[in-house]
Amino acid sequence: MLGVMDLQALLDDLAAEAAPFAAHGKVADYIPALAAVDPAHFGIALATMDGQLYGSGDWQTPFSIQSVSKAFSLALVLARDGESLWRRVGREPSGSAFNSLVQLEYEKGIPRNPFINAGALILIDRLLSLSGDSLGTLRTFLRAESGNANVDVDPEVAASEASHGHRNAALAHFMASCGNLGNPVETVLDHYFRQCSLTLSCGDLAKAGLFLANHGLRADGSRLLTRSEAKRINSVMLTCGTYDAAGDFAYRVGLPGKSGVGGGILAVLPERGILCVWSPALDPKGNSVAGVEALDRFTTRTGWSIF
Ligand code: GLU
Repeated sequence: MLGVMDLQALLDDLAAEAAPFAAHGKVADYIPALAAVDPAHFGIALATMDGQLYGSGDWQTPFSIQSVSKAFSLALVLARDGESLWRRVGREPSGSAFNSLVQLEYEKGIPRNPFINAGALILIDRLLSLSGDSLGTLRTFLRAESGNANVDVDPEVAASEASHGHRNAALAHFMASCGNLGNPVETVLDHYFRQCSLTLSCGDLAKAGLFLANHGLRADGSRLLTRSEAKRINSVMLTCGTYDAAGDFAYRVGLPGKSGVGGGILAVLPERGILCVWSPALDPKGNSVAGVEALDRFTTRTGWSIF
């Protein structure tokens, strides 16, 4: 078992070693507000089950969490709705781009999994029906778990997403035409764009995700998910959480993870904690180049993968 000092020193080493890999990637440019982010940022944080928080680099800087948010919305829907969700969305890796239209049409408006954009729109639609306010429910949860009452939407990013959101609108309209959307398309899209624009730091995110490493128990000891539901979310993260590079991510990192095009990745170390990295330069599949590099090195050095 690594000691406290070792963990901090390890994160410092990983920050120094992995950050230069950002030079091999490119920031997401299809959302103008994300294209403006400095690709040189690198942050890494580890929240452990015993309440410790370690961080290095820009680990306290808030960034646009984008699709990392989808792991949390899946948890909030499963917690309220259980298995019935899977009638409306699958749980197989997509093998296609996260915003593919053609796959959705072939599959008659049932998204391949909850983490591609179409699947995330289903999560929001369901959470809207269950709670009346999908974004508000998620934001309240993230604030409580991270202990940061300032967690919020970046309105500039949300506006940028909305004005360049034609593809997401197409996905939502197509699902509505198939009868797989319960709320108005505009409402679902509004909550989706704002959800993707939530900003948290690596430290906030690592704390907020701890329930995934703790068999579904929240920070206050209450139960969000059954043990089995927490297992299932981690399983879907392992197989579908990192776009159509989930196989490569599993091969290199050996942990369930969820990435976003803002350059964040949340990785689950079952019964140990949550490791979060952020570096905005992405590989062609949409995963942070330096982030995956750091996670690969972390599990290689510690042996803390699930395998
Ligand atoms: N807001 C982004 C989109 O809709 C999220 C993509 C992502 O992080 O995977 O394209």
